[in-house]
Amino acid sequence: MSLIVRVFSLMLLLLCSYSWAVNSVKGVRIWHAPDNTRLVLDLANAPSHKVKRLSNPTRLEIELAGVSSLNIGAVTGDSPLVKSVYASRTPSAATAVVIELSFPVSDSIFSLPPSPPYGHRLVVDLKAQGAAVSSAKPAPVVSQPAQPATSSRVTGRDIIIAIDAGHGGQDPGAVGPKGTHEKIITQSVSRQLAAMINQQPGLKAVLTRTGDYYIHPNKRPEIARQKQADLLISIHADAVQNRKAHGASVWVLSMRRATTEVGRMLEQTEQHSELLGGVAEVIKDSANERYLAQTVLDLSMNHSMVTGFEVAKEVLREMSTVAHLHKKEPQAASLAVLKAPDIPSILVETGFISNYNEERLLKDPNHQHKLALAIFRAVKGYFEKSPPADSLFAAHKNNGRSVPASQNRAVTVISSTNRTHKVKRGDSLSRVAKQYGVSMTALRRHNNLKSDNILIGQVLRIP
Ligand SMILES: [Zn+2]
Repeated sequence: MSLIVRVFSLMLLLLCSYSWAVNSVKGVRIWHAPDNTRLVLDLANAPSHKVKRLSNPTRLEIELAGVSSLNIGAVTGDSPLVKSVYASRTPSAATAVVIELSFPVSDSIFSLPPSPPYGHRLVVDLKAQGAAVSSAKPAPVVSQPAQPATSSRVTGRDIIIAIDAGHGGQDPGAVGPKGTHEKIITQSVSRQLAAMINQQPGLKAVLTRTGDYYIHPNKRPEIARQKQADLLISIHADAVQNRKAHGASVWVLSMRRATTEVGRMLEQTEQHSELLGGVAEVIKDSANERYLAQTVLDLSMNHSMVTGFEVAKEVLREMSTVAHLHKKEPQAASLAVLKAPDIPSILVETGFISNYNEERLLKDPNHQHKLALAIFRAVKGYFEKSPPADSLFAAHKNNGRSVPASQNRAVTVISSTNRTHKVKRGDSLSRVAKQYGVSMTALRRHNNLKSDNILIGQVLRIP
């Protein structure tokens, strides 16, 4: 090794260690989700940190090596868990970022490498212990005022549509050439779609996220399942290198991924009771339980995939009237948000945010409204043709009438003399009987039950 090379290497080494040693905080972002808060420190270089948990006042002191300035840039966002964020000096004269908390919380702190549009980050996840703290609004639910019944009284349950606004929080999704974040578009279209759905008697929307925060893609179908959704619609905007690519497309779960997920659910025996409801408690023989779980899953997977595909076709048909289509047929993919084999799921790519023209369109509230309306029409149209048996849509279909518009909503309220109960996880016949203050015999007779076994999703008429 020549002397010049050696000197150069030494300089490089010094330069590298120098850049590690000198760091700075460029800003702090706070995201509050219903059950946790994420703080992100944006840093010039990879952080090296030490954490102290202090009381009086309750706070986290994160000492950052190599940071000399007390300037932490702008703090954006807020959370009921966080009182304030500021920089201070530790007794050893090191710089620390202090997060003052409203009360003691559990924390998890880790660094993330650069990932455009973000650079080096230190992530602080905070979770309230015990009681959940939430400032985020719950998913909008349309209230059902009790009104005197009229001659057109038709009853049935609401069809529940889970709407998933793609990305959120520290995950902006794709970023357009003018800097538009996909998460903003998805949230806006999702909100408008939810509002339209909630205006329609017989349909009810639930949102997987109600604000700008991050939810892991795997968690999104779980939320839909908890809300007993009949359909999951995930809203996104596409991006590719080729700026010319444009148009909308709709994705469905691929057969291969569905089969894998069925296998995975079967391996998790604790999920069987969730799938089988009260039956799992009756069947003590695990071989039989597995067989039954397999049958239920196969049936529901077939149903989900057929429904997903049909809804996807309707959405494409409606979207073709308001937007260019990138793909005219539903596309199959193995995507985390579509993985639920038991919930019909589709993913709508509303357009290419990477295309100049479509970035402008996607940002336009008018165009967003058109997109939401197209999806709403498709969903309504599909369920008018193929409603779940116990739904209001089915009741109207059987009466040979279409479901009335929103102002008639009060008319469709389930009256107290015609109650139904959809069997949830953990329900047993005796529990349902107790819940409504009726006898099990009456419940059995009223529903023509030959045994006390009930299945999740089954609708019981309450005498
Ligand atoms: Zn996306």
